[in-house]
Amino acid sequence: MLERGEVANSWRHERWDSLRLLTPSWQSRLPGLRYEGPDPDGYMTMGEVTEFIERFAKVSGAPVRTGADVTSVRRAGDGYHLTTSGGEIDCRAVVIASGACNRPAVPPFADAVPASVEQLTPLRYRHPAQLPDGGVLVVGASATGVQLAAEIQQSGRPVTLSVGEHVRLPRTYRGRDVLWWMDAAGVWDQRYDEVEDLTRARRLPSPQLVGTPERTTLDLNALTSMGVELVGRWAAVRDGRALFSGGLRNMFSLADLKMERLLDTFDEWAEAEGLDAEVGPPGRFAPTRAPQAARLHLDLGSGEIRAIVWATGFRPDYGWLDVPVVDAKGQLRHEGGVVDSPGLYTLGLPVLRRRRSSFICGIEDDAREVIDHLARYLAVRR
Ligand SMILES: Cc1cc2nc3c(=O)[nH]c(=O)nc-3n(C[C@H](O)[C@H](O)[C@H](O)COP(=O)(O)OP(=O)(O)OC[C@H]3O[C@@H](n4cnc5c(N)ncnc54)[C@H](O)[C@@H]3O)c2cc1C
Repeated sequence: MLERGEVANSWRHERWDSLRLLTPSWQSRLPGLRYEGPDPDGYMTMGEVTEFIERFAKVSGAPVRTGADVTSVRRAGDGYHLTTSGGEIDCRAVVIASGACNRPAVPPFADAVPASVEQLTPLRYRHPAQLPDGGVLVVGASATGVQLAAEIQQSGRPVTLSVGEHVRLPRTYRGRDVLWWMDAAGVWDQRYDEVEDLTRARRLPSPQLVGTPERTTLDLNALTSMGVELVGRWAAVRDGRALFSGGLRNMFSLADLKMERLLDTFDEWAEAEGLDAEVGPPGRFAPTRAPQAARLHLDLGSGEIRAIVWATGFRPDYGWLDVPVVDAKGQLRHEGGVVDSPGLYTLGLPVLRRRRSSFICGIEDDAREVIDHLARYLAVRR
């Protein structure tokens, strides 16, 4: 196992200080390792996640070589040749587990933002004090965007939040964590070959969730109540002005509708399982409040906005992979983790085999199936 940094590198070095997992601790399970701390319904801090993964490296006895940066993988004979910062390696099969979130996905028009406005991505953002005083434009209203918008607004810097397509979820429903419902009702277990539009499912933004000791719901209504100003999707920069799409109201209705459909699924499942007496009564949430007249443009040179935080998602980085298996959008071509080149496999990508594939609790089942395939591949060649 080659790791360019340390064990749990992304959790140590690529996350902001206040971040906690949005998945409850009982859900953090790896093969042979469960959370055994005092608060299974809580949400781990980055220090706790790092310790958890370190513990897994020890109990699994994984042969990890840290500080081994893979700079090239190419096909050689019937296997692969790897160049790493620690030397050359020949092998018959490779599993690419380099993560789905190596680079921030920033739109090209970021280059047209005036130099007077500081720009930051979540991979470099640590805490609000890093930002200049004054207004901050947070772009993207999925898990990262809503969490950073709330924290920056609470630091006294007025936040404008540019909202695109998003997935609204309450933190708890009928007294249980919403992710308990997803897990129990089998939503997260849905397999990739049962998903209607797999390409879309793989590109779905993360849900608007935050892990706090208070189990707070952090949806757009909560942000509006804190004083965050909502604007539409950022579409372009023209003459130093940010232009936002209209249609916030429609976008909100769609997200509300999808949330209600999901809650309907939970209710139907609870009834079918005879669980209605064990959980709280069904309920619905207030629709997302749209601003009276959302601004459609913002003068980036006026000094109102001093910094922009791009919470517009992440991309994998395969710059080191010299095998032609990456599509025009920068994604690996694979079928359930079996990459389009003999002996090449991948793990840890969105909806790789199940809806929960890219979460900590998703790796165990995926890894078992992918490694089964790999073992058969090697056995035949042997
Ligand atoms: C902001 C954020 C919040 C998240 N919150 C949650 C959550 O609450 N719950 C949850 O279950 N999941 C969460 N996730 C998803 C999380 O990333 C995955 O659950 C998990 O970290 C994926 O593990 P991984 O090992 O596949 O990828 P990573 O953790 O990204 O690990 C990949 C490793 O590969 C190394 N690497 C990359 N390229 C090379 C190379 N060329 N050579 C050598 N080494 C290399 C990297 O240094 C890194 O250590 C979150 C993700 C992000 C970005």
